[in-house]
Order: sequence, then structure tokens, then C-alpha cells
Amino acid sequence: MQRRDFLKKAGMTAATAVAATAGIMGCAKEEARQEGPAVVTRQKFEWKMVTTWPPNLPLLQTGAERFAQRVAEATDGRLKIQVFAGGELVPALNTFDAVSDGTVQAGSGAAYYWAGKTPAAQWFAAVPFGFNAQGINAWFYSGGGLQLWEETYAPFNVIPRPLGNTGVQMGGWFRKEMRSIDDYKGLKMRIPGLGGKVVGKAGGTVVLLPGGEIFTSLERGVIDATEWVGPMHDLRMGFYKAAKYYYYPGWHEPGTTLELLLNKKAYEALPKDLQLIVDAVAAETNMWTLSEFDAANGAALQELISKHKVNLVRFPEKMLDKLRELAKQTLEEEADKDALSRKVHEAFKAFKAQVGVWGTTSENAYYNVIADKYKLKG
Ligand code: CA
Repeated sequence: MQRRDFLKKAGMTAATAVAATAGIMGCAKEEARQEGPAVVTRQKFEWKMVTTWPPNLPLLQTGAERFAQRVAEATDGRLKIQVFAGGELVPALNTFDAVSDGTVQAGSGAAYYWAGKTPAAQWFAAVPFGFNAQGINAWFYSGGGLQLWEETYAPFNVIPRPLGNTGVQMGGWFRKEMRSIDDYKGLKMRIPGLGGKVVGKAGGTVVLLPGGEIFTSLERGVIDATEWVGPMHDLRMGFYKAAKYYYYPGWHEPGTTLELLLNKKAYEALPKDLQLIVDAVAAETNMWTLSEFDAANGAALQELISKHKVNLVRFPEKMLDKLRELAKQTLEEEADKDALSRKVHEAFKAFKAQVGVWGTTSENAYYNVIADKYKLKG
């Protein structure tokens, strides 16, 4: 359509169109005069964000993408973040370095990946027999945990924010039944982080495998067991075709936090209102992710049991007691690695005792009351 035709159709002449445009410009100028310094904040920012996750991984990669999209919407396009999955711009495990050295302005992963850079990072992702999602969020937002996390990443010029939580994960897929702690002896299991160290102490052999190789390794018996996330993600990976026993609860990852990494210089270059939007959308993404996990996992677990005839088994109580003991030893050893790890560990323990006492009286007691109302169909 010609411009003249369009104007005619819109009931405008070229002259009125010019006048209207001038009017708009006039208003804008007026606003600028009144707002004064606000004009400065109209500066636009374009960021890159890299993650440790495979493309399209539900809630982890898609959560990071959702975060970026909502920041763009909330800032009316003043902060645009282009998101890259692991390996698309930098290798997945170079995410932290890329944010640290300013190659990119933001990143997403989980803090246990950075244990080699600073052992204290491990307390901010998942601690065996540590906090569940509710507890870790209480620690971050209201118990000083986020300040300690900031202190841990400060030497790297990185600012952390919680960006999601998986909730309690599943214990994992085992090709044979686990009757006692002795069954870990010689067991080859894919299990990362502190949980892996505990399995190692129990006599198991921890095998590191990229996500894409886990299923085949389990199916061929190269490994005897693997953990992954929870029913929704585990169902998608097809582990039920390779192992008969699905154990719970995920003592090794009782509420894994996903993280937003911000380059300090880039974050501090943002005007205050954009900083607040980044923080607020990160917190909202943290809640959204946990809600999505909670909403989807029940149905996925039911499908695994009724359609795929998976044996859902609870770890024996005595085995959990022993694993808890080994986890305690592991954490003390890790805390001895440097002064910051000790500081974080002691703060974590103190807060855990505080919320634990309340959790037993509130959430735990309530769950016990309603437990028999929710039975899976065999
Ligand atoms: Ca896991």
C-alpha cells in the first residue's frame, strides 16, 4: 500500500499526519523537560548470556530464556539479553569464566560446577541432606545466604542470584536392588558433586559422563546406576528402558538451586531501576521454575509407574542413616579446604538448625498428616 493511500484510508492528509507527528514530538519533548534526568536512563543495553545447559532443556535452558524475555518486556526493550545454550558461544563449563572476564554479561548454571575455582561454591547449589527448596530460599533471601554467595564470587567479579530450584530430586536409577550400604561397593554410578563424593566414600565408583552418553552407558551396563533430575526430566531421558529400580528420595540434591551469573561491571553499569528489574525477574524465575517442577513431576512419576511399570523404591532407612554420616564427613573435609568454605559451612549449619526445628513442626508435620491421601496408582 502506498503511503498516500494509507493516510487517506486512515482519514488523514499528509498535512495532518505531519501535525500529529509534531504533536507527538512536542509531548515527548515536554516529557523530557519534566522528567529531566530520566532521559539518561533511556539508554539501551544489549547483553549476551551463556548457560551450562543443552539447547531446549526444559526449565533449565528454557527458564534462562524466559528470564531474558521477561527482562526485555519489563524494561520495554531497554535491556535485551541474547541467550546461548552450552557450547553455542563458549563451552558449557566455561560459563563462569566467560562472565568473570566480561566475554559475556550474564550466565546461568549451578554453583557446584565451580567447586574447582572456589570450594565454597558447593554450598550454594546442592548439599547432601541439606536444605530443601523452601529452606535454601529462606537462607538466600532472609538468612544471609545470598550475601555469603556474593562474597564467594566477588574475587571473580561475578554477582550471583538464585534463578530456579528443582525441588527434591529423585535418588536415581539402579539396575539392581539396593538393600544395604554395602551394595554401593563396586557400584559404578554417574552422580556429580558432593553426592558423588559421598557415594565414593561408600565404596562406589563415580563415573563422569556428558548428558548425551548417560542412557547408552546405563543400557549397556557401563554404569550400574545414574541420577539425573526428577520424574519429568528422567522420563524424557528414557532411563526406565535401561534400569528397573527408581529410588527416592534424592538425598544428594534435596533442592538444587540454579543460578544467574552477572558480570559485576555490566550489572553496575545499569541504572538502578534496571538492576532492580534484573533482580526481581530472577526472583520470579526462581519461583516459577520450582512451581513448574512441582506441577509436572507428579504426573510424570505416575506415568513411569503405571505405563512403564517402574519399581519405585525408597532407600532403606539404615542406608540413609549411613549416607548421612558419610555426607557429614564429606562436608567437614570440604569445609577444611579454605577459610571461606569453613565460614559458609558454619553459617549453613547454623541456619539449617534454625529452619529445621520449625520445618519439623510445620511442613513436615503437615505432610505426615496428609501423606495417606496421596497414593500413587500401581
Ligand atoms: Ca541431579
